[in-house]
Amino acid sequence: MPKKNHPLKFETRALKSTQNIKSEVHAVSPPIYLSSTFERNHEGQYQEGYKYSRNDNPNRRALEKSIATLENGTAGFAFGSGMAAISAVFQSLKTGDHVILPDDVYFNLNLLMKEVFSRWGLSYSFVNMSDIEAVSNVLTQHTRLIWIESPSNPLLKISDIQGLSKLAHAHQILIAVDNTWPTPVLQNPLDLGADIVVHSTTKYLGGHSDVLGGCIILKESGALAHRIQSIQVQMGAIPSPFDCWLISRGIQTLHLRVNKQTENAQKLADWLVQHPKVQQVLYPGLKDHPNHEIAAQQMLGGFGGMLSLLINGDEVQTLSIANKLRLFTQATSLGGVESLVEHRKSVEGAESQTPINLLRLSLGIEHIEDLIDDWKQALI
Ligand SMILES: *Cc1c(COP(=O)(O)O)cnc(C)c1O
Repeated sequence: MPKKNHPLKFETRALKSTQNIKSEVHAVSPPIYLSSTFERNHEGQYQEGYKYSRNDNPNRRALEKSIATLENGTAGFAFGSGMAAISAVFQSLKTGDHVILPDDVYFNLNLLMKEVFSRWGLSYSFVNMSDIEAVSNVLTQHTRLIWIESPSNPLLKISDIQGLSKLAHAHQILIAVDNTWPTPVLQNPLDLGADIVVHSTTKYLGGHSDVLGGCIILKESGALAHRIQSIQVQMGAIPSPFDCWLISRGIQTLHLRVNKQTENAQKLADWLVQHPKVQQVLYPGLKDHPNHEIAAQQMLGGFGGMLSLLINGDEVQTLSIANKLRLFTQATSLGGVESLVEHRKSVEGAESQTPINLLRLSLGIEHIEDLIDDWKQALI
């Protein structure tokens, strides 16, 4: 599929797109407009188009334009968290619609379907999204949406975005991709045929573990864009101007961070695979990953900064290794400049299908030799 033609390259657009906020004193760093409301002139007009900050705000508008251009989309919508953005996609459907999700979908989305949207009359099937035939077998005449996370969390499974988009479009079904993990630096789902991209901007876009946010980017501005916009404005799960400013600032260095984190993840994965205490490394950049080829086709420029590994041992041994790490902080979340380790099973709770000996890593921007040394001492 041809790439959208932009006059500027990605890094330049990431920087310039976040600086489009008017400043009366010609400030280089964009100003933050905290105002909840905007003045109406004697003719009854809002001269800059801003009226009330739930509807629109200069910092939010700048962020929305920025993410839309980075994902090669037409329309962008910012929300107060990744889950608020994800919820808006499902809220745009109607009672009786059927959706298909990966069987290892992000754990909170699994709960959202079971605990909230089932009561609203959405029906759903969880399938192995890496198997297009399995997806095709659960299609019904009410299926409206297929949800993809590639790489998936925390098993790093890969789904064929182009193949699934072809299947979906043959049946007038929408394809949504949660692109939080690869980021637009490595993967552009809209260029591969998807209709909707979502992000938890809390992660790589924000990039410093100090802000929550989410966004939706659409390929077309049409009826779906109107529905999403009315959910955003009427339901009001919007980010604050300061949060938009922080995420925009993160976007300015997104490219540098993701490339470094990807390089660190690939090197650590290559080192971990040869260690006798490591049973398996789950990383699409390894040649023996079952979908390495598809990942290489759709993730341009690398396989991302996230990896999981299975320890040769039980839960106690796995947790004790996590406790021995000094440079990897034990915390949930990902995509920040610092390296994190997480025992995913105990965070997800009793219903989780995640193996007890799995540790999930989010690579930061530290020197790779320090990170490898840390693993050397932890695995003794
Ligand atoms: C963190 C995350 C979310 C949820 O985002 P929040 O900002 O925590 O609401 C959704 N999808 C993926 C892949 C995530 O990593």
